[in-house]
Amino acid sequence: MEKTLKILVVDDDEVDRIAVRCALTEAGVQMELSEVSDGNDAFSALSATAYDCVFLGYRLLNQDGLTLIQQLRSSEIKVPLIVLTGQGDEQIAVQLIKAGATDCLFKSRISPENLAQVLRSAIRVYRAEMQAALANQHLRESHEQLIRKNQELERQQQQIQMQNSKLSEASQLKSHFLATMSHELRTPMNAIIGFSQILLRPKFCQLTHQQEDMVERILNNGKHLLMLLNEVLDFSKLEVGRLDLKAEIFDVSKVINIAVGEMHSLADAKNLSLLVQTDLQNSLVFNDPVRIKQILINLLSNAIKFTECGEIWVEVKELPANRVVITVRDTGIGIAPRDFKRIFEAFRQVDQTITRKYPGTGLGLAIIDSLVRMMGGKIFLESKLGIGSMFKIELPRQITLSTGAADPPALQLDDKGVLSSAKNPHHSSSKARQAPIGYPKFKL
Ligand code: ADP
Repeated sequence: MEKTLKILVVDDDEVDRIAVRCALTEAGVQMELSEVSDGNDAFSALSATAYDCVFLGYRLLNQDGLTLIQQLRSSEIKVPLIVLTGQGDEQIAVQLIKAGATDCLFKSRISPENLAQVLRSAIRVYRAEMQAALANQHLRESHEQLIRKNQELERQQQQIQMQNSKLSEASQLKSHFLATMSHELRTPMNAIIGFSQILLRPKFCQLTHQQEDMVERILNNGKHLLMLLNEVLDFSKLEVGRLDLKAEIFDVSKVINIAVGEMHSLADAKNLSLLVQTDLQNSLVFNDPVRIKQILINLLSNAIKFTECGEIWVEVKELPANRVVITVRDTGIGIAPRDFKRIFEAFRQVDQTITRKYPGTGLGLAIIDSLVRMMGGKIFLESKLGIGSMFKIELPRQITLSTGAADPPALQLDDKGVLSSAKNPHHSSSKARQAPIGYPKFKL
């Protein structure tokens, strides 16, 4: 069943009002029809009641239809308006539509069919217009919301950028402070070590047994402190990218044997066997020997520190694709898989408590990680709690140096077994640093 329409007819000519009413009735429009004869009454009626449509005579007694339409549209009254004009008012019809009339109909053409058709299409058009206006309004609102959110995001981004630059400034200051302090502390520490060594020389002075013991303690503690200072200095240099590799051709087995030799006394003190096995057809590499030794010393001191009984093995082997692998294996306390990643972060230790059993700065593995990356290598860790750990360092036989450093020479061994470096004709002249490798891979 069709909805009953509320219709208002505004015309000062009663004949015209009757014509509209009759035509609509005859057309079978279900309606509640109200009639008023001037603009003021129309305004009051429309303010009081929500109509579905208004038929408005263009010429009214006290004002014209155009003014009334403008007033209605500028007020909040929303209703389809069909204006009934006299013949020959086409120009006016255009003006009326512009002012907000929904449709115009010549009075001479009022008939039940025409009126019903104009009424229906006016209501349909008007509803569509209202829906479009509503959708537009929603769009405008969401657009404004988006703009506001964008502004908020931009503000937050600026804040994050500001905080980031503050953080990086603070981190630079911290690295600078660490570098300066460790550098400054090294000088007196070297003096302490040097003078204790002199005091221990029998030729220099005769110390009692007790005095000798005390000076030895000063020397050992001084050496330990110097090692810690060097770690901090290396770390701060690595952080700001100021640590360069000084590469040369050298015999990697020799460097490994020297490092192992230096660690023997520590292993002996804990009754641990320290075994080395080198299985290299060609033991020449192009790398930084000091840093290779440092990596090995760090891994070995960890292995000794975290092992109470058993053995520590060092193994060097060749790998395909001109790579070399150095493995340090122990039968120590082991590392839980959840800590595999963490222990490579600076200052991270499995036991972070103040009462921890094992001393250390937590910088050793972070430094190894950075050095191995700089060398274009990878670290692999395998470990089981209570069983032991195995650190594998895979390195290219020839590292690529960063910008500004010399091109790595090709390694060559002549018939007499003499080392020499011939410039490799196939070596790319690009001095770009090797692409940073991903985080070290871990396996169990
Ligand atoms: P530090 O030895 O000074 O604490 P590292 O960076 O060398 O710092 O090592 C970080 C942590 O990794 C150690 O504190 C320890 O918890 C763990 N770790 C390293 N090597 C071993 C190992 N061989 N066995 C067991 N735990 C180890």
